[in-house]
Amino acid sequence: MNYRLDQLPPRARFSALPEHYFRHVAATPLRQPQLAAWNTALASELGLASNPDEHGMVLAEILSGNRPLPGHPTLATVYSGHQFGVNVPQLGDGRALLIAEFDDTAGRPRELQLKGAGPTPFSRRADGRAVLRSSIREYLCSEAMHALGIPTTRALALIHDPQTPVWRETRESAAVVSRVAPTFLRFGHFEYFYYQGRHDAVRELADWALQHHFPDEAQAEQPYLALFNTVIARTAALIASWQGVGFCHGVMNTDNMSLLGLTLDYGPFGFMDGFDAGHVCNHSDETGRYAYQQQPRIALWNLYCLGQAFSPLLEKDAILGALDSFQPAFETAFGQRMAGKLGLQEWQDSDWNLLTDLLELLQTASTDWTLFWRTLSHSSDQTAANMALLDLVADREAFAAWYHHYRQRLGRDALTDAQRKQIMLASNPAYVLRNHLAEQAIRQAEAELDYSEIRRLADCLARPFTENPVFSDYAGLPPDWAKTLSVSCSS
Ligand code: AMP
Ligand code: MG
Repeated sequence: MNYRLDQLPPRARFSALPEHYFRHVAATPLRQPQLAAWNTALASELGLASNPDEHGMVLAEILSGNRPLPGHPTLATVYSGHQFGVNVPQLGDGRALLIAEFDDTAGRPRELQLKGAGPTPFSRRADGRAVLRSSIREYLCSEAMHALGIPTTRALALIHDPQTPVWRETRESAAVVSRVAPTFLRFGHFEYFYYQGRHDAVRELADWALQHHFPDEAQAEQPYLALFNTVIARTAALIASWQGVGFCHGVMNTDNMSLLGLTLDYGPFGFMDGFDAGHVCNHSDETGRYAYQQQPRIALWNLYCLGQAFSPLLEKDAILGALDSFQPAFETAFGQRMAGKLGLQEWQDSDWNLLTDLLELLQTASTDWTLFWRTLSHSSDQTAANMALLDLVADREAFAAWYHHYRQRLGRDALTDAQRKQIMLASNPAYVLRNHLAEQAIRQAEAELDYSEIRRLADCLARPFTENPVFSDYAGLPPDWAKTLSVSCSS
């Protein structure tokens, strides 16, 4: 059964909680909302009628916040968090509104949020809006990550209103991303009530999470401990998947950490072009707190914050014991990712040396991360691909020595070359959302109100492991002008 968005049957979950978790807030209307992008594949997963042409105006009205959904309350939730290591007692949905709770076609819980639909009681001094450029980036990256097999919030649509100005460093225009997740619950939701001393509310929220989103953990002998262990395991797996594709989140504050282990709040993120373990994608991150190689450590730090907020629910020793599982869980998940990237049947302890040697070579030459792995996937016995590999590294002799060791390692593996190639091509994407690709779509949309490049790029990124000659322009090295691009917290 496919519903029109305005006929979506409500299923109250978060909105059924007591009101200390949120405020009812109406969206602030946009003047001339236009549907710039619509995610047909996600729409049908959600049980929504998927042809936007039939009711495009209705969609633009609803997904801009101009028209509320019948039967669904509109609300902003309260949370806090550690921003760049500092506890900020109150944050909250400053520019996000929950506009619908429902079940998807598989009966899974779903929340629909508008990001940029106007101020809320949690906006502090900000305007509650989001600009077009950051909204395009969030729309594209959510779906790119999903297609890469990385847990993430999803993006259903992108609304643009060229008539509503938004002031950042210059005048820009308003946009709204409608995003979807089972829940947008963050570490920061628990921190808020913990630091308020409202331990009953921490427990109530944990019970709510167990009931609706962690059914297996709810059945465990110690549900809160099972919940905490699962959050740790999922976070470890998430960060391992980021490291594998060279993704940097940019603002790993605890308020941007999903309890479900989803990639959440796309701001100044970036996929590394040339490999640099110390790469910092966020221009505003002056100390490099959230550099690529710091991400696992920061995730653990953030889990300590969540552990603190869970202290009314669990003994201190249980919390610390659970946190000890992060590092091994991360290493196992990362090893599995790297085994896939290298085409190994399974990761062995001695493979860390092989990987470390390789990363040193890539670091020295600033070798393009995505291109290197894709080329390696093709390299098994083809000289052309091997020559292309050599072009990507600075020290050909050192690389040849590494490659020799790698081939020896493969020789001890049970996989055939054909099997290995298949695994590698499914582990090493040909396409990721490089900054300059997003930038091309942004410039076209800003200058010409032409959204076709967003759609073309989204089409390509929906199948990142399949080379398609139509999209060969997306697979190459970034152009020189991309070197001057920078992204910051301004969005
Ligand atoms: P971030 O680190 O960008 O995810 O946001 C940190 C906090 O600032 C969150 O509480 C956001 O809701 C809030 N925020 C960011 N930008 C805006 C904005 N333009 N208007 C209102 N609140 C905002
Ligand atoms: Mg945030």
